[in-house]
Amino acid sequence: MIDWRQIDSVLLDMDGTLLDLHYDNQFWQELIPHRYALSRGLDVNTAKAVLKPIFKRRESTLDWYCIDYWSRELRLDIPLLKREVAHLIAVQPHVLDFLRSLRAAAKQVLLVTNAHHKSLALKLEYTRLGDYLDTIVSAHDIGYPKEDPLFWRQLAECHPYVPGRTLLIDDNLAVLRSARRYGIAHLLAVQQPDSRRPPADTGEFAALRDFRTITPASSVLNPPPLAAGVGAGESPRVADDASTGFPVSSHNK
Ligand SMILES: [Mg+2]
Repeated sequence: MIDWRQIDSVLLDMDGTLLDLHYDNQFWQELIPHRYALSRGLDVNTAKAVLKPIFKRRESTLDWYCIDYWSRELRLDIPLLKREVAHLIAVQPHVLDFLRSLRAAAKQVLLVTNAHHKSLALKLEYTRLGDYLDTIVSAHDIGYPKEDPLFWRQLAECHPYVPGRTLLIDDNLAVLRSARRYGIAHLLAVQQPDSRRPPADTGEFAALRDFRTITPASSVLNPPPLAAGVGAGESPRVADDASTGFPVSSHNK
């Protein structure tokens, strides 16, 4: 599935890739509508109907991912509410072994996320993922969301990498497409970003089901069957997060 001899740098998304998207989905699709309803004297279904177009307008912009923006827009203390359900933050299975293997294989490992700093800090506090990464980059530092090919160019100026020798793993198809337009050669789409939802459609990208299938050591010493990690020829059920219209950190479409 992956020829590690061809790869020097690994770019990893956070929400829905290294971390279970269940936390973000629960936060934006359940907790926020409930608290918004409470603060406005609405029932929850009405609150969801009111919020949907408000969120929709900011899709694929940095505002979508900016919790300061949503604190102002919704007049809710988003950072405080995020901490309230922080017990739901979880690392995806076998991710830590994968990260250890990357380090052992001397790969450059960057976390590249659209997440806002306050959300990022909370998740790093709860998961200690920072211990396994060389660099952590938020799109809010770069000035463009990952859906914009300019993000990848700007990233290369700050943290040099060779696109043709770089692997990106992400659960957002728009992000994978922008990276491909920039020239990143190796791309994998996470097949089940939210452990509580069905596998997602990974479109034209190879699907990553299980990090064990791509850890450098097992790939080199004991190659797994290709079918174990590649979605080609299959018809996975579609979990269309975008259809909910809420600003989860990943929204395949
Ligand atoms: Mg994501």
